[in-house]
Amino acid sequence: MKYIFVTGGVVSSLGKGLAAASIGALLEHRGHKVMIQKFDPYLNVDPGTMSPYQHGEVYVLDDGAETDLDLGHYERFTSSNLSKLNSLSSGQVFETVIRNEREGKYLGKTVQYIPHVTDEIQKRLFDVTKANPDVEILITEIGGTVGDIEGTLFLEALRQFALEVGRENVCFIHVTLLPLIRAAGEIKTKPTQQSVAKLREIGIQPDIIICRTEHDLDEDNRRKIAMFCNVEKKNVVAFRDVENTIYQCPLDLRRDKIDRLVVDRLGMTDSPTPDLSDWEDFVDRIVNPVNSVDIAVVGKYIELQDAYKSIYESLTHAGAAHRTRVNVIRVDAEAVQEHGAAKVIGKVDGILIPGGFGDRGVEGKILTAQHARENNIPFFGICLGMQIATIEFARNVCGITGANSTEFDKDCSEPVICLQEEQKGIRDMGASMRLGLQTSILYPDTKASEIYQGAAEIKERHRHRYEFNSDYLDRIQEAGLVISSVSANEGLVEIIELPQHPYFVAAQFHPEFLSKPNYPHPLFYSFVGACLVSKGA
Ligand code: GLN
Repeated sequence: MKYIFVTGGVVSSLGKGLAAASIGALLEHRGHKVMIQKFDPYLNVDPGTMSPYQHGEVYVLDDGAETDLDLGHYERFTSSNLSKLNSLSSGQVFETVIRNEREGKYLGKTVQYIPHVTDEIQKRLFDVTKANPDVEILITEIGGTVGDIEGTLFLEALRQFALEVGRENVCFIHVTLLPLIRAAGEIKTKPTQQSVAKLREIGIQPDIIICRTEHDLDEDNRRKIAMFCNVEKKNVVAFRDVENTIYQCPLDLRRDKIDRLVVDRLGMTDSPTPDLSDWEDFVDRIVNPVNSVDIAVVGKYIELQDAYKSIYESLTHAGAAHRTRVNVIRVDAEAVQEHGAAKVIGKVDGILIPGGFGDRGVEGKILTAQHARENNIPFFGICLGMQIATIEFARNVCGITGANSTEFDKDCSEPVICLQEEQKGIRDMGASMRLGLQTSILYPDTKASEIYQGAAEIKERHRHRYEFNSDYLDRIQEAGLVISSVSANEGLVEIIELPQHPYFVAAQFHPEFLSKPNYPHPLFYSFVGACLVSKGA
């Protein structure tokens, strides 16, 4: 078993997650079985409770773990299927250590950061290895920046771990920033030197340094970094800002043969050279499209780059498959509420309403769904987007004027969307989230069945509390809304569609968590296809 640890220095947002994911992609293309995971030094137990302003999207895994959006990159860049074991925060570590202490598991010893906390961190590495015996290389990204107080225990744990498993089985990769001081016209290596010095203080000598830079990395600077940071010159790798797409990252890192450096370092002498033709082809389809579509994404956190990350990525995957550039037009639902859908959304080829929580902007989203339905604009609703489409249809087609979700109006007279417990007349059950992979049945002769190529069953990831209220099923179906998929165990509504509309499909689950570069999710693929048709392309 081989281990790669990816740390970061100087500043955050260096693209450490993308670097880790890219290395994973390259190693996988060499034929190795890899898995990537994240250690996050913050004290939250998981990011499920964090605001999108803090954290961007919450990425959900098969087992329902609510994780950092970097795990989305890991799953998209490699074929590995991650679980809750692949995401560890300080919050989880301390929770466990304190629980162990209360249960007397430390046999009366004084419980300390070293060894008890650092052991708990190392235990996770062994647990992942044990749970995935076929994995050859485990890549672990450490969140935060070297020098942060809260990251120190993780780094100390890695130092100990490398001793434990043998330094020859471990590759430390440090990602740093090479800033350009414009006035002097010079690239500066000092922040990199200092951040590596910090790492070495802890006892970690990086094997490879990845330098994030806006420009090329010349020989002089490579030599300088190598000398001051005590690494070989060939192990100083440039990571330039990518122009077109993040999927360019593995190809860029490959220029300095990072994958070769890694396998050499790990003594994997029989590692074959990678065949990247499928990845190159995918990037080519993004960079050289023959068509384009404009898709409005109408949401609440629209100004945040990362709040709907997986949705944007899924649109890119689907666009590439159609050789189509997807121009995402981010629309603030509150602006729609204030000024009307026609005015704010303008002329677009498709409309997508993503997931969300809370009532802000909801009426704007309802106007958006109505606008799409009445004007035959391809529509795709995801999670909250499906609930919105249901409310709109109930109000404006079925004449259930009081229709709403109990999430937005607890005492609404017509709860077409509500908690399952409320449907059964049970209140205050805590209403925990429906999370992770669930199986649903597809009904034949529906749009959904066609989209999933006739599959009888699908498995999709969920993250929601509220449901389509079955008391309203008959009235809503009679008015023309088709339920094309329900959950296998409880018959909960999973997909709705409007057969008379060019494309009006909405899902209670989150298809964006299962889309891959060369395997776009069928719902995104068909939606982008419908947008092309609607555009007349
Ligand atoms: N707020 C809605 C619910 O809890 C939708 C959640 C979502 O879109 N992820 O059911």
